[in-house]
Amino acid sequence: MIDLSWLIDPIYIVTIFFFIIGMHRMSHPLTARSGIVWAGAAMLLATIVTFFTPNLTNFALMAIAIVIGGGFGYFAAKRVPMTGMPQMVALFNGMGGGAAAAISAIALLGPATTAEGSLAVIGGLIGAVSFSGSIIAFMKLQGWLRPRPITFPGQQIANMAVLVLAVFSGICIILQPAWVPAGVAVFLPLFFVLALGFGLLMTLPIGGADMPVVISMYNAFTGLAVALDGFSFATPNYAMVVAGIIVGAAGSLLTINMAKAMNRSIANVFFGAFGATEESDVQIQGSMKPIEADDVAVMLAYADKVIIAPGYGMAVAQAQQKVKELMDLLESRGVQVKFGIHPVAGRMPGHMNVLLAEAGVSYDHLFDRDEINPEFESTDVVLVIGANDTVNPASHREGSPLYGMPILDVEHAKNVIVLKRGQGRGFAGIENDLFYRDNTRMLYGDAQETVGKLVQALKKL
Ligand code: NDP
Repeated sequence: MIDLSWLIDPIYIVTIFFFIIGMHRMSHPLTARSGIVWAGAAMLLATIVTFFTPNLTNFALMAIAIVIGGGFGYFAAKRVPMTGMPQMVALFNGMGGGAAAAISAIALLGPATTAEGSLAVIGGLIGAVSFSGSIIAFMKLQGWLRPRPITFPGQQIANMAVLVLAVFSGICIILQPAWVPAGVAVFLPLFFVLALGFGLLMTLPIGGADMPVVISMYNAFTGLAVALDGFSFATPNYAMVVAGIIVGAAGSLLTINMAKAMNRSIANVFFGAFGATEESDVQIQGSMKPIEADDVAVMLAYADKVIIAPGYGMAVAQAQQKVKELMDLLESRGVQVKFGIHPVAGRMPGHMNVLLAEAGVSYDHLFDRDEINPEFESTDVVLVIGANDTVNPASHREGSPLYGMPILDVEHAKNVIVLKRGQGRGFAGIENDLFYRDNTRMLYGDAQETVGKLVQALKKL
């Protein structure tokens, strides 16, 4: 067979450039799609060229794994609705962590030096934590586990004990002490079971509202694990190192931004649930007051300034096109329209920006939370379209799972119209007293339908 192994390093260098270009293009929604294509092409190229590695065996097994994994990924991604995307991202991210952990296991089964073994152990620990933690995040987002913190007495001690035992097993794998015969055979499985258990235990107590920070942090973990694995073999794999570092750095920045957006420290996200008593549902005085679309249309038509606060419900209803139509109609009547975008609205970073960009809403209409908050007081009508947690004043109340997260202060507007289907709660699962306020009216129904009704009613005015 022709030896093509000399091609591996030069092509890895090319893939590294592709990854960097891809990452750069992903930094803006308008170029993000092509960024994905660049990164995907890099991954394909890196995978193909890896087959040129000398003395490679098990071709059939690798081909089967690629067909199963690739097939599952392709069909799952094709079929997933936009609203299921966050779960899918969490799951695929977890798979990356799992793959990194598996690579570490292979490195540790082979003849590794102490340095290589140490890197493989750290990579394995981080990868396994990312894998099991992401599965829990997936289950919370999918609704298979309740999003509220799941805690039990002594959990923090249990977590610490599992982590210490995992690290101890890792050290035993590296040093292979003489007092444990067949050290690796015993400690390797133990190490991975403990690491997976730690990821699980660490994620269960994290509440639903903090999931954005968790998902981005496990994303960073996966990148880090892959980068460490790249150094765990006698011949380092530079494509893995660079791709891992890029993902790790981007994920870390995203984690910091998400934590800032929620006004949480990372420690508070991971340990905040411990010792906190869960707020029993606060009894809210008053009632929710419904309103009809025709009446809202009149309010909108004669307003000077309208702010739209979209949330997850807009994504569920796929109402963004209708919302754009509504915006155009209002602007044609001389009404000033702005969008207030909360950084964690929806179920993934940038969710609202992507949907609105897709519908053709230009960026100069979008204002982030801190920019728009001072404007609510001078606003005639705020349309809250499928948002709940991100406009919930409970975040000002100590003891609330949302406590401390700055919200869109829509309650300061003259009129607040909330478009939602019924009495459903937000992702954090708590009541929202905004809906009971004197200046709030509820326009019930699927957001696509109700925004459609507003458009029709406005056209008649
Ligand atoms: P929420 O999830 O808090 O609330 C969404 C609301 O939309 C619900 O109250 C629901 O009420 C309504 N809704 C659902 N379907 C429809 C529909 N078809 N038409 C109209 N309304 C609908 O949304 P927010 O965007 O305000 O908050 C996001 C939450 O998700 C935060 O807690 C955030 O921390 C969390 N999160 C965010 C992530 C991110 O990266 N952005 C990732 C993971 C979690 P009803 O059922 O009555 O219609």
